[in-house]
Amino acid sequence: MPKPLVYITRKINKEWLSELAKHCRVKMNSKRTPPTRTEFLAGVKAADVLVPSLVERVDEEVFRVNPKLKIVANYAVGFDNVDLVAAKKYGIPVTNTPGDYAEAVAEHAMAFLLACSRRLVEGDNYVRSGQYKFWDPLLFLGNELRHKKLGIIGTGRIGSWLAQIAKGGFGMDILYYDVARNEDIEKKFQAKKVSLQDLLRQSDYVSVHVPLLPSTRHLLGAKEFKMMKPTAYLINTSRGPVLDERALVVALRNKTIAGAALDVFEFEPKLVAGLVKLPNVVLTPHTASATYFARRQMAEVVTANILDVLVRGQRPRNEIKDNC
Ligand code: NAD
Repeated sequence: MPKPLVYITRKINKEWLSELAKHCRVKMNSKRTPPTRTEFLAGVKAADVLVPSLVERVDEEVFRVNPKLKIVANYAVGFDNVDLVAAKKYGIPVTNTPGDYAEAVAEHAMAFLLACSRRLVEGDNYVRSGQYKFWDPLLFLGNELRHKKLGIIGTGRIGSWLAQIAKGGFGMDILYYDVARNEDIEKKFQAKKVSLQDLLRQSDYVSVHVPLLPSTRHLLGAKEFKMMKPTAYLINTSRGPVLDERALVVALRNKTIAGAALDVFEFEPKLVAGLVKLPNVVLTPHTASATYFARRQMAEVVTANILDVLVRGQRPRNEIKDNC
């Protein structure tokens, strides 16, 4: 019997897959670009196991093309690319990669806070474009973070680590909003649970760390931006559609808020018109978890889930249990 075939849609480091390769044949996309839909479906059809990235749409068509898939092991923490109802209908388990990525993403959010407070990108552009001719004591004035209020929306793994860095390292005061109470950060970092409205009204920086769910789509839009201080910055490393990006562009243009830093976009990889023209935004291409350590861990979690099913004959450890 040939070993089961695992189709991995995106090129990752082969070294991270050594354990998987002991038990399976691995067919990996050899290019850095995502597969076309036709290439993707052909890959799915031939495989026993699918490892998609969050870019590939895993909808009912995928399960129709190959109803014998043993597992869909998403190479991502989020799983909004997978139709869980369809997966359940076909009895195919879906997993994600929770693990040690939280520090990477929280550090990226912290880097965004610093980039905003110290106007790093504006300063970089200024120097590169030859505008730096003399020292000016009023040039690019910013703010220290100490005693500024950081409002964290969603205090799970990433939000909690951000609370630790921001409080422990920078002396910020932490407010948070979450559907669940987080006594740990209340005790350790004197974080205060408040309503979403109070968080928006009081915070100097708002950082978003909720998953994309029907309840969090457009959690923040025009109405919410108006509640924020005109001096406040908004940071999003969660999922693009959690913010109404068109309304955000209007709020940034009108100086309703001071600025924003975004790693994720509502119509990713497309950007809403006008966003790149704004000087008060910092943009990164969904790289908040792009550290060597985090990416390797993700490959190891994917491997563990696949081997749970194929070798150990058990439910995968990170199966997504949805209410559908
Ligand atoms: P987590 O599940 O540990 O925490 C999410 C928190 O959000 C929980 O505390 C939950 O109670 C809260 N929450 C859920 N629905 C809510 C609602 N309607 N209102 C308020 N709070 C709500 O998740 P995590 O590991 O901290 O990751 C958060 C998100 O970050 C992921 O879902 C993913 O979309 C995103 N992420 C992005 C990157 C990136 O590269 N930019 C990398 C990893 C994760």
